[in-house]
Amino acid sequence: MRRAKLAIFPTFPPLVRHTKEFMPKVLIAGGGLAGLSAAAALGGAGIEVDLFESRPFLGGRATSYNVPAGSGEEPETIDNCQHVLLRCCVNLLDFYQRLDVRDRVKFYREFYFIEPGGRTSVLARGRLPAPLHFTEAFLRMHCLSLKDKRGIARALLAIRRERTRRKDLDRISMLDWLLQKRQTPQAIDRFWRQVLVSAVNEDLDRMAARHGFQVFWLGFLARADSYEMGVPAVPLGDLYAVEAWKRLGNVRIHFRSPVEQIGERGFTVAGSVVSGDRYICALPFERLESVGLTAPKFDHSPITGVHLWFDREITTLPHATLLDRTMQWMFNKDSGRYLQLVVSASRDLTALSRQEIIDIAIGDLRLYFPKVRDAKVVKAHVVKEQRATFSAAPETDHLRPTADTQNPSLFLAGDWTRTGWPATMEGAVRSGYAAAEAVTHSLGVRARFLIPDIA
Ligand SMILES: Cc1cc2nc3c(=O)[nH]c(=O)nc-3n(C[C@H](O)[C@H](O)[C@H](O)COP(=O)(O)OP(=O)(O)OC[C@H]3O[C@@H](n4cnc5c(N)ncnc54)[C@H](O)[C@@H]3O)c2cc1C
Repeated sequence: MRRAKLAIFPTFPPLVRHTKEFMPKVLIAGGGLAGLSAAAALGGAGIEVDLFESRPFLGGRATSYNVPAGSGEEPETIDNCQHVLLRCCVNLLDFYQRLDVRDRVKFYREFYFIEPGGRTSVLARGRLPAPLHFTEAFLRMHCLSLKDKRGIARALLAIRRERTRRKDLDRISMLDWLLQKRQTPQAIDRFWRQVLVSAVNEDLDRMAARHGFQVFWLGFLARADSYEMGVPAVPLGDLYAVEAWKRLGNVRIHFRSPVEQIGERGFTVAGSVVSGDRYICALPFERLESVGLTAPKFDHSPITGVHLWFDREITTLPHATLLDRTMQWMFNKDSGRYLQLVVSASRDLTALSRQEIIDIAIGDLRLYFPKVRDAKVVKAHVVKEQRATFSAAPETDHLRPTADTQNPSLFLAGDWTRTGWPATMEGAVRSGYAAAEAVTHSLGVRARFLIPDIA
């Protein structure tokens, strides 16, 4: 290793003096949010970074691409699936800040719950302080009965009490816990399932209770504004545009450069060994074996996205959670004419054809938005991500590795590593920051990139 001259500065840039001959070099495999956030943290701290991404674009599972349009029209840029965040995703927001794109995320204070027939309930914070900030809105929600609401209020109080006391939250499912708390079937279906299945991408009977607790504690109880939902106002791919990286200076990105092997001497790329001082593997867990590393044995959980373009405006709502049917969320992508629908933990759709899924989506939408009945579908696109995330099942968390490996030069990142979060963009960025911290620690510097949870 070249001799690195390191110094700690009170703020992150520059952690390392910009004397090229003493600059440590870090190689990163994978240009998803985990690899990119590690690169941004290390590059911002003055360390030289080379990042290898197999595809010709960045963002991994949180990205956008072009789909063919009608004849004579420009191709349409769509996200592989709508991605949302909450204000409690403090590391993801910090990463966007580093790339100077934080203002491209629009935050919404209202959550709309729509019943078949179109009746809409709005959940938004009122005047009371946390954790009582939803009381007024909650009491007005038509989609839940008084009995449902009393049960939910009891369970939310129990989450506050039990989250640090109970030791079995990684062993039992969220559904087990909700049944212990005597939640009504309607409260489970219309409230708990509706929020948690999309947040954790797993069904309640397959989800470790600790993840359900974390979503409700951080997102709904800890702070009055932490539930606010952020939706990128630009295609996801635009958030990591090449120009943003030029500002960071020290990061070189190599597109179409799959890492073939990760070994003692470095990365093998296009048949040649490339060496650095430290290495970060930020690949999805199912790709580890292909580069010679041991992969943990997790199951996957799928997500299905349905993109529908209509010949007229269908709704003016920016987004909504759709109750009691297959489609779970609707996002209004363009003037109510282009809607994106999302189904998380979508195992039931796996065997269905594209057309069958489109038919279900349109059938569902007719129940919530009457204008769909007379509208014409101009274009439709279905994205089935069978390997969307790992399944956040009970007894899984202890299998998730930390950034350190047996090789003192190699560190792991990825939403599947032990971040304390389910597989989310925030989890991926936390893993990237944790790996970047571990790299600097191994170089003899105690850098801090990770921002602690809000509570
Ligand atoms: C459909 C869908 C919807 C989602 N919705 C949300 C949401 O609303 N909110 C949210 O927070 N999260 C959501 N997620 C989860 C989120 O997208 C992921 O948790 C996160 O993007 C994972 O980032 P990562 O860097 O760990 O992995 P990845 O994004 O998988 O990145 C790994 C990268 O490695 C590259 N790669 C693979 N093999 C090689 C190789 N041999 N050499 C070099 N590069 C290689 C890949 O091309 C990829 O770019 C969703 C995921 C999906 C699939």
